[in-house]
Amino acid sequence: MGRLVRTEGLTDEQEEILKLVRQFVEKEILPVATDLEHKDEYPTDIVEGLKELGIFGLMIPEEYGGLGESLLTYALVVEEIARGWMSVSGVINTHFIVAYMLMQHGTEEQKQKYLPKMATGEVRGAFSMSEPSLGSDVSAVSTKATKVDDGYEITGQKMWLTNGGSSTLVAVLCKTDEGADSVYRNMTTFLIEKEPGFGETAQGVTIPGKIDKMGYKGIDTTEMILEKHQISADQVLGGEPGKGFYQMMDGVEVGRVNVGARAVGIANRAFELGVAYAQQRETFGKPIAQHQAVLFRIAEMATKVETAHSMVVRAARLKDAGERMDVEAGMAKMVASEYCNEVVEASFRIHGGYGYSKEYEIERLYREAAFMLIGEGTSDIQKMIIGRSLLKDYKL
Ligand SMILES: Cc1cc2nc3c(=O)[nH]c(=O)nc-3n(C[C@H](O)[C@H](O)[C@H](O)COP(=O)(O)OP(=O)(O)OC[C@H]3O[C@@H](n4cnc5c(N)ncnc54)[C@H](O)[C@@H]3O)c2cc1C
Repeated sequence: MGRLVRTEGLTDEQEEILKLVRQFVEKEILPVATDLEHKDEYPTDIVEGLKELGIFGLMIPEEYGGLGESLLTYALVVEEIARGWMSVSGVINTHFIVAYMLMQHGTEEQKQKYLPKMATGEVRGAFSMSEPSLGSDVSAVSTKATKVDDGYEITGQKMWLTNGGSSTLVAVLCKTDEGADSVYRNMTTFLIEKEPGFGETAQGVTIPGKIDKMGYKGIDTTEMILEKHQISADQVLGGEPGKGFYQMMDGVEVGRVNVGARAVGIANRAFELGVAYAQQRETFGKPIAQHQAVLFRIAEMATKVETAHSMVVRAARLKDAGERMDVEAGMAKMVASEYCNEVVEASFRIHGGYGYSKEYEIERLYREAAFMLIGEGTSDIQKMIIGRSLLKDYKL
C-alpha cells in the first residue's frame, strides 16, 4: 500500500475488509480490467467474487443478512475497487443506493422482502430518476403513475439506468397526483421488479439494449420503457405516495459520497501510473521525473488525491455520525471529480504519446474520469446545492 489515501482511526474490522478488497483488486480486477473494458465485456467473474466477499451487503444491517458496515467503510471499499476498475464500482453503486433507500424509507415488509436477497446479490438494484429530457432538473419527471383499483399503472420513458439490464429491482421516480401544491410532493418512488436481460423484462417494462458509451464500459447502461405497467400499491417505497422526491434525494446524497470515492480511486491509480512512468522514461539524459516540470506535476497530483480523499472521508464520517452532510457531500463530489479529471490528465501528459495508446491503462482512466463529472449531479448542480445551503446557514 502506498503513502496516499490512508485513513486514520479505522477499526480492525475495517482494516481487515479493506485488506481483503485490496487483495481482490490486485489479483482479480487489475490484471483483466483494461482487456474487459476494451471488449465492453460484463465482468461476470469479478461480480461473483464480490458476492462471495459480501460486498453487495456491506451496508445492509446484520439482521437482514448484511455486514452492517458504515458509509465510511463503503466509501473506502469503493476507492479500492475504482482504483482497479471504475465500472466494477458502478455495479455496486446503484445496488447500494436502492438498499440504502429501503433501509431508510422502506416498510418493514419491504425490508424483509428485499434486503436479505440484496445482501447476497441475488436481487440486484438499479435506480431511475433521469429521463430523455431531464437529468439535473428532477422536478420535470414526466413518467406518470395513475391510480387504478388497488394499485397504479405506470407509463413513461426513463433514461440512463446504470445496471438497467442486470438488475432485478428498480427504484423508479414517477409523477403521481397527490393534489399537493408542490411538484416535489407529487412524486412517488416505486419498486419495480423485473427479470434481468433485455427486451420485455416484465409486463409493460422494456429494456431496449445497452447504450454505447465512451467509457464506463463492461456494465450496462440502458433506457427503460414503461407501457401501462401494472403495479400494486404495496410496491410504493415506504407505503406512502408523495414522498418519492425526498427519498431519491436522500439516496443521491450518499451516492455523491460514492462517486467522490470512485473519483479518488481513479485519481490514485492515475497517480501511481504517472509516478512510475516518470521514473522509467528518460529524456535529455535523465528520467523525466527529474525535470522540475514533471516533478511538480507529481506533487500536484498527489496533493489533489489526498485532498479529495480527506473530503470524501469527512462527508462519510458525518453521515455515520447522523449529522447533516448535504454541503460536505456536494463539496466532496465536486472536488473529487474535478481533481480526478485534472490528475488523470496530468498523468496522461506524463505518458507522452504512449498515453494515447490503448496499450496503456491511462487511456482507459482518461475516458472513465469524464463520467465522474456527470454522475449524481454535475459540478454546477453541486454548486447550487452548496451555495443555497450556505446562504441559509449564513443568512444575515
Ligand atoms: C453513464 C451514465 C450513467 C447514468 N446512470 C444513471 C442512473 O443510474 N440513474 C439515473 O437516474 N440517472 C443516471 N444518469 C444520468 C445522470 O444523472 C445525468 O446525466 C446528470 O444528472 C446530468 O443530467 P443531464 O444529462 O440531463 O444534463 P442536463 O441537466 O441537461 O445539463 C446539461 C448541462 O447544463 C448544466 N446545468 C443544468 N442545469 C443547470 C443550472 N440550473 N445551473 C447551472 N448549470 C446547469 C449542467 O451542469 C450540464 O453542464 C447517468 C448518466 C450517464 C452518462
